Amino acid sequence: MNKPINIFWFRRDLRLEDNAGLYHALNDGSAVLPLFIFDKNILDKLPKDDARVTFIYQTIQELKEELQKHGSDLLVKYGKPEKVWPEILKEYNVEEVYTNHDYEPYARERDDSMAEFLTSEKITFRTFKDQVIFEKNEILKADKTPYTVFTPYYKQWHAKLNDFFIKAYPTRKYFKNFLETEHLPLPTLKEMGFEKSQLDFPKISYKSKLDDYAKERDFPALDSTTRIGLHLRFGTLSIRKAVKDAIEAKSNVWLSELAWREFYMTILWHFPYAAFDSFKKQYDKIKWRNNEKEFKAWCEGNTGYPIVDAGMRQLNETGWMHNRVRMVVASFLSKHLLIDWRWGEAYFAEKLLDYEMASNVGGWQWAAGSGNDAAPYFRVFNPELQTKRFDSKFEYIKKWVPEFGTKKYAQPIVEHKFARERVLKVFKEALS
Ligand SMILES: Cc1cc2nc3c(=O)[nH]c(=O)nc-3n(C[C@H](O)[C@H](O)[C@H](O)COP(=O)(O)OP(=O)(O)OC[C@H]3O[C@@H](n4cnc5c(N)ncnc54)[C@H](O)[C@@H]3O)c2cc1C
Repeated sequence: MNKPINIFWFRRDLRLEDNAGLYHALNDGSAVLPLFIFDKNILDKLPKDDARVTFIYQTIQELKEELQKHGSDLLVKYGKPEKVWPEILKEYNVEEVYTNHDYEPYARERDDSMAEFLTSEKITFRTFKDQVIFEKNEILKADKTPYTVFTPYYKQWHAKLNDFFIKAYPTRKYFKNFLETEHLPLPTLKEMGFEKSQLDFPKISYKSKLDDYAKERDFPALDSTTRIGLHLRFGTLSIRKAVKDAIEAKSNVWLSELAWREFYMTILWHFPYAAFDSFKKQYDKIKWRNNEKEFKAWCEGNTGYPIVDAGMRQLNETGWMHNRVRMVVASFLSKHLLIDWRWGEAYFAEKLLDYEMASNVGGWQWAAGSGNDAAPYFRVFNPELQTKRFDSKFEYIKKWVPEFGTKKYAQPIVEHKFARERVLKVFKEALS
């Protein structure tokens, strides 16, 4: 039998620097072979030109190049993990498998069954916290139950934060422990049924934004937010580094946004049903109208509400939408059009480069009123007032809706006052 090795399994932590699980693997003593699986259970549900697959693919290529410089390589497989793992065990003499925690329902199921399988093969499966500062039960109320409201959660999160939790894992010191190997093959995007996306991916360059973030972040015409969601999603940026930079820049508002991300992840961990059902269960009694024609108009940015249409077109064209506008379009779909928030959530999930299940479900349920720390149901965003406050010169709107102000622009799909009264009535009926 070949010499025993350990495997580090990359998933949503695609970096060599400051990676918790990788650090522990490299410190274990045995040579480490890194692995990435293009998971058919996930990929089979995605459109063929999914930009995130291109992003992952490019990142995998970069990881391979970097590992090859160190005399090693990344083992890349394409298939379902439950089929891929037995094949790997035929090829390699594996002693231990290292990976990082993942809190989404599918990932938890996958990891539970992989742990069971590997244990039955006498292989140790070790997992670590990496993508958040605090996870699972680390921030709890005095009665040991999870917080469902952000403000007190954040108070404790912030009080607990210290240098220990944001210290980088010095992986580089141990790169000599990667398994020495010849170059390993990489399936092409085409072989996996995907096309290369033409979308641009935001770079990791956020420091210059932090000083004015608190002042400017709500104005969608300004390029004042950091666009690091994609990098936090796939781990091309370490959360410890981001938090450290926030503290150094004294950007407390941005720091609290990073904590919102963890808050939603913790909610998803404790309440996995809320990925699919309303967090507040009585909201599942709402009688949605679910008009398909209106949904299509919303998706395409043709509702006749300029701020909504600008947002949807920005999403369709770039894979990103400004946070303020995400709130407006989500409120518009679930309240003005009375379309089930799950439809909007699914559309965002398909289009957003920074799609994160916990934050997306959290954001949608916040807007619809059904979430854990949500806007009250009677708060119906007025798109016109939102425009007055946040895009008063129509700069954002004109950028994405060039026909705005001309005869070619769509008529409003529904009248605001009528829609507001309708939603209040329907919600009240369901919730009383
Ligand atoms: C309906 C709706 C859906 C959303 N879907 C997602 C999603 O799928 N993925 C996602 O990362 N965010 C989501 N958000 C939150 C927020 O809109 C985005 O994180 C933000 O717009 C991303 O842009 P940025 O990277 O420039 O963020 P910045 O404003 O620069 O913030 C930095 C990072 O902090 C985190 N963050 C900021 N605001 C929030 C927030 N409200 N909730 C959770 N995390 C936050 C993100 O990781 C973000 O990248 C959603 C919000 C709403 C209202």
